Amino acid sequence: MRINSNYLKAGVAALALSFACGAQAKLNIFACEPEYAALAKELAPDAKIYAATTAMQDPHQVQARPSLIAKMRQADLAVCAGADLEVGWLPMLQMKSANAQVRSTDKGLFYAAEHTQTLDKLAQVDRSMGDVHAQGNPHLHFDPERLLEVAKALSAKMVSLDPDNRAAYESALADFSQRWQAAIAGWQSQAAPLKGKKVIAYHTSFRYLFNWLGMEQVGDLEPKPGLPPSTGHLASLQGRAGQGDVMAIIVASYQDERGANWLGERTGLPVVNLPMSVGGNDDAQNLFGLYDSVIHLLLGVNR
Ligand SMILES: [Zn+2]
Repeated sequence: MRINSNYLKAGVAALALSFACGAQAKLNIFACEPEYAALAKELAPDAKIYAATTAMQDPHQVQARPSLIAKMRQADLAVCAGADLEVGWLPMLQMKSANAQVRSTDKGLFYAAEHTQTLDKLAQVDRSMGDVHAQGNPHLHFDPERLLEVAKALSAKMVSLDPDNRAAYESALADFSQRWQAAIAGWQSQAAPLKGKKVIAYHTSFRYLFNWLGMEQVGDLEPKPGLPPSTGHLASLQGRAGQGDVMAIIVASYQDERGANWLGERTGLPVVNLPMSVGGNDDAQNLFGLYDSVIHLLLGVNR
């Protein structure tokens, strides 16, 4: 039987075309934290995105569960904060998932902290300091300018992994950058009354937010990073609050409120629970909502 070779060529061409369009390479993205799942969604709306943690979980301490291992095994790209935030759990996931693609930043591993300057890098660290962040503070998603730098680098990483869809990634980045920059201007003017305000907070979770808005954290509910507030430490914070210049006590959505509530009751200061990430409250459904909500909640206790 003879097959008309022109038909065959046409058929092969049609198949190739349908493969290119229909089965468009969609990146499979594993995000260590919900803020990076949200950022990936802005930059690659069609990608398959999985967030390993929620805003109600402590991102420093995560169980390397079988479901996480299975998700990482399928990933083309893993997006994490870096600066050692995930040092206690990501290496285990990488080892157990045995997915070479997300083992190295030369390939599909992306650390946000490698694409911007972190605050509070330490020259040297010893154990007496507690569970400190020697590579600088990794909670950088609360600095909108830094997050934009990360977005640019992340978009470039997506292009390098999936060059056929370069145009789509570039247009998503341009769209996000434009909306984000407009939002930054709005947030800065809304948050102007917060400038110079002092707070007591839990851990250095909002270090970048306070830095950006010109606020100051004058006390930390943690006596040392990673340790819960002790009675003696809370008493010293009560003394600090007694100076009368503290606006509020801040906890993040995943943190234990008990120490903050104890201090709030004794000092009369409001306790504000801020979403640590997207999904941390009903208003924080994407990165824009997260910033809107955090600023709204802080303005609500401003006095
Ligand atoms: Zn931390």
